[in-house]
Amino acid sequence: MKAVQSWGRVCASSPLAVRAVPDLGVAQALVTGGAGLPMLAHGRGRSYGDVCLNSGGMILRTTGLDRFIAFDRSSGVLRCEAGVTLQHILELCVPMGWFLAVTPGTRDVTVGGAIANDVHGKNHHWAGSFAHHVTRLELLRSSGERIVCSPDERPDLFSATVGGLGLTGLITWAEIELQPVANAFMTVQTTRFSNLETFWRLNAAAEASWPYTVAWIDCLARGGQRGRGVFMAGRHAAMQQSLPAWQESRRTIPLDPPISLVNSLSLRAFNTFYWHGARDGVALSHYVPYFYPLDAIANWNRIYGRRGFFQYQCVLPPATMRAGVDALLQRISRSGQGSFLAVLKTFGHRPSLGMLSFPRPGATLALDFPNHGRATLRLLDDLDAVVSQAGGALYPAKDARMSSTMFRQSFAAWEQFSSFVDPAFSSDFWRRVTH
Ligand SMILES: Cc1cc2nc3c(=O)[nH]c(=O)nc-3n(C[C@H](O)[C@H](O)[C@H](O)COP(=O)(O)OP(=O)(O)OC[C@H]3O[C@@H](n4cnc5c(N)ncnc54)[C@H](O)[C@@H]3O)c2cc1C
Repeated sequence: MKAVQSWGRVCASSPLAVRAVPDLGVAQALVTGGAGLPMLAHGRGRSYGDVCLNSGGMILRTTGLDRFIAFDRSSGVLRCEAGVTLQHILELCVPMGWFLAVTPGTRDVTVGGAIANDVHGKNHHWAGSFAHHVTRLELLRSSGERIVCSPDERPDLFSATVGGLGLTGLITWAEIELQPVANAFMTVQTTRFSNLETFWRLNAAAEASWPYTVAWIDCLARGGQRGRGVFMAGRHAAMQQSLPAWQESRRTIPLDPPISLVNSLSLRAFNTFYWHGARDGVALSHYVPYFYPLDAIANWNRIYGRRGFFQYQCVLPPATMRAGVDALLQRISRSGQGSFLAVLKTFGHRPSLGMLSFPRPGATLALDFPNHGRATLRLLDDLDAVVSQAGGALYPAKDARMSSTMFRQSFAAWEQFSSFVDPAFSSDFWRRVTH
């Protein structure tokens, strides 16, 4: 059986069976069939580590559950099967004046995957996370029950399922609320900053008036330049008389290069180029390059070669976030193992709905590290020590190596959550962090 990979390509998983789920009838037969193998839903595999992998078990590929069920054009409430991707929703709904209320940094994600990781976007401080906009969903359990849950119906099971890493059963369909937009464009304000102090100031000022905020940080910069970066604030553009023409062009990385193309030279060149290439000011951007710059290059994860890369995303609480982010950047800069994409943003105060939801108040930093084996793992352990001391948490959707201790510290409600896990479902991640 061919191994199933997730996005970071560092985890090899050999399921004993991979089954396509083309419709609800097959879903029901598979989930209740009792093949004796632990099951797990798998959407587009855009999680970086092992939350979507299931060695020795059965993978249920959900991308065949791709039907739209209902859309109310006046309220923006959409009901669809769980394998529908965010890209398909945008293609259908943006021309009708509706946009996702929350979107991660790729559109190539299924609704089921977005719910199971309770994904967040650049607008957490305004809109919370994906689950805040899920009004209802249906969960298929291995007992054969099909349970509709929402914040009001079976709220306990709803809270376990959103952010529940696919462990409470198979989500078959969901109903989500969209937000109205005037067109497909964004107004984006770009500001370069030269240190973290300025980032915190810019961010605090922008959060009150911009729904989307995020910063790229040059994590290779040292000394007085440590913490320099580019701050981007955005909002959906208002109605305009004329809009620029926009045409999507997509490229692909067709093959695995024999070695990683990401090394200290290319990282330094990219970071310097990005910093000097950014232009301060306000401009219009189509929503695709604004939200999904990486989607322009299909299979971009191949640039890291066959050994793949680790993504590391943590959140630090407000009281410790400033010192904590500084300490993380110091350690990364000292290690010389930089990251192309070091993304810093703050989460707002809206409490997450899921027992295992990652978003919580504070600052979140996301980084990519080429896999250099032990040296990289040592650096990540070093970063864990900072996160742990700061009372922070790691994001399972991005993780391939957090320890059981780190998981328990990150998710205080994990024991309560375990009582909702469907006995026929499991994952490599779950076995790793709970053994
Ligand atoms: C370029 C890029 C940018 C990203 N940016 C962000 C970001 O900004 N914010 C963010 O939060 N995340 C981000 N992510 C992570 C990504 O959004 C999540 O990992 C997402 O959950 C992937 O969805 P998927 O459909 O590929 O699900 P998979 O990765 O296949 O699965 C994810 C989890 O969902 C479960 N699952 C999938 N379908 C179902 C179902 N029908 N029923 C029950 N469980 C199910 C799986 O079992 C698994 O536990 C990014 C990823 C990439 C590659």
